[in-house]
Order: sequence, then structure tokens, then C-alpha cells
Amino acid sequence: MAFKGKTAVITGSNSGIGLGIAEDLARQGANVVLNSFTDTDEDHAEAKRIGDEYGVESRYIKADMSKGDECRALIEKAGACDILVNNAGIQHVAPVDEFPVDKWDAIIAINLNSAFHTTAAALPMMRKAGWGRIVNIASAHGLRASPFKSAYIAAKHGVVGLTKSVALETAQEPITCNAICPGYVLTPIIEKQIPDQMKTHNMDRETVLRDVILVKHPSRDFATISQVAGTVSFLCSPNGDQIRGTTISLDGGWTAS
Ligand code: NAD
Repeated sequence: MAFKGKTAVITGSNSGIGLGIAEDLARQGANVVLNSFTDTDEDHAEAKRIGDEYGVESRYIKADMSKGDECRALIEKAGACDILVNNAGIQHVAPVDEFPVDKWDAIIAINLNSAFHTTAAALPMMRKAGWGRIVNIASAHGLRASPFKSAYIAAKHGVVGLTKSVALETAQEPITCNAICPGYVLTPIIEKQIPDQMKTHNMDRETVLRDVILVKHPSRDFATISQVAGTVSFLCSPNGDQIRGTTISLDGGWTAS
């Protein structure tokens, strides 16, 4: 029970990678706070299922990560935050000169600004508790660019910068801050892009997966949710004590070249 007694707040955790991270931390004894901007019976049922299955406290707290005050309120309502995983994220694909302004603003707010607000709110709690871990789920697109994803790439590069700055500010404390940079993981955020790509390229699903999406991965294989969750656990373990302000890539070799 590596994380017994710790409380983990995972933003954007009612699906995909965030849900996988929450479940993995709960499996290792952490009390978990799940989050998204919705407030459905399913959201609360999923939190209850995790609590019942692993015998930990598990709550769902609605907070819209596009709004700074709601980001900060999430941490306040959690009451404790030993492990903060900034995971909420959205994507939109368009040429920069046609990029809808509302989409640009939403991507910067949810993918970047939310990590600033939650970190600012969580750090005093971590200092009081004498221990803390901040793990930002960035992306290979925090290290490399692709066309038509300007807002996402600007936000994820920003997250990597924020990670380094926070790590230096906490360098002499038992609090670490790092970023994980996955390449492609087959989750709803990717699933939503497949029909458009099939139409644009006039290809079937398997061809789009292999020749359009996984073309970035020299391994030609997806990273998995459990691999990302396992990397979060590693960073939160004692072996992570001196891993500070860095990025860990899970991208099948994408950023090797
Ligand atoms: P996903 O769409 O399944 O998950 C995104 C989560 O963010 C969902 O829980 C969603 O409800 C939440 N969210 C969206 N808007 C929100 C808001 N306003 N307030 C609160 N929560 C909000 O996608 P995912 O692949 O699991 O993505 C999780 C993170 O991983 C994102 O930051 C994404 O950029 C990053 N990432 C994903 C991949 C991939 O290939 N799937 C690769 C690199 C990085």
C-alpha cells in the first residue's frame, strides 16, 4: 500500500488516462478525488466503484478546469492534496489562421492555465504536509510540433515550462514536479479524431491508425493508459525523490529523432 494515507487529486479523470491514473493510485492505497466539468450519476458512481473496490476514500468533485476559480476551489474542496495530477485536456485541429478563438482560449485555459491554478492552490497544502508530488500530463506535443494543432502545442510546451519553473521553486523541499509526455494513447481524445482523419485521407480505420496516427511512433504501437499510470506511480515513489523538473517520454521513440 505505497500511498496509504495520501490524497491524490486527478483533474479530468472521468475517462481515459485520468481515470486510469486515479484507479491505479487507489489500488495502491491513495484516497482519490476524481474530477471533470460534468456532474452526472455516472461520474459519482465511478468514484464510488473505485472506493468500494480498493477500500479507499474516493470522491468525485465537479469543477470546470477552464475557470481559474473552479480549479482553485477543487483543491480547497479536496481538503488535502499530497499528489496532484494535472491531466485535464482537450484538442482542436485547424490551421492557425482559421483557428476558432474560443477553441484557442479553451485549450490554453484547460490544458495550461488550470495547472497553474491547481499548483498554486496545492503547494501550501503540500508544504504543510511536508511532502508532495505534482505530475503534469503534458504530451510529445510539449516537446515537438505538428501542423494544425497550434493551441494544443503552445499549451503543452507551456506545461513543460511551468513544470521546470515549479521544480526549481520547490527544489530544496520534499516536493517534486515533473511532466509525462505520452505520444499516442488510444483514448476518447484520439478516438474523436479518427473519423475526420478517415474522411480527410479517404482511408479505413486501421490504415489511419497505422499510417496517419502511429506514423509518429517508430515503434508503430500505442502507449497504454496503464503505462502512463505506472509512470505516475514511479514519480510518486521514493525512487522519484530526485527526479525534478524533467519530462518522461512514452512515445514509442517519437522524440528520439
Ligand atoms: P480524454 O478525452 O479521455 O480525457 C480528457 C479528460 O479531461 C476527460 O476526463 C474530460 O472530462 C476532462 N476535461 C475536458 N474538459 C474539461 C474541463 N473543462 N474541466 C475539467 N475536465 C475536463 O483524453 P485522454 O487521452 O485521457 O487525455 C488526458 C490527458 O492526456 C490530456 O491532457 C491529453 O492532452 C493528454 N495526452 C493524451 C494523449 C493521447 O494520445 N490520448 C497523448 C498525449 C497527451
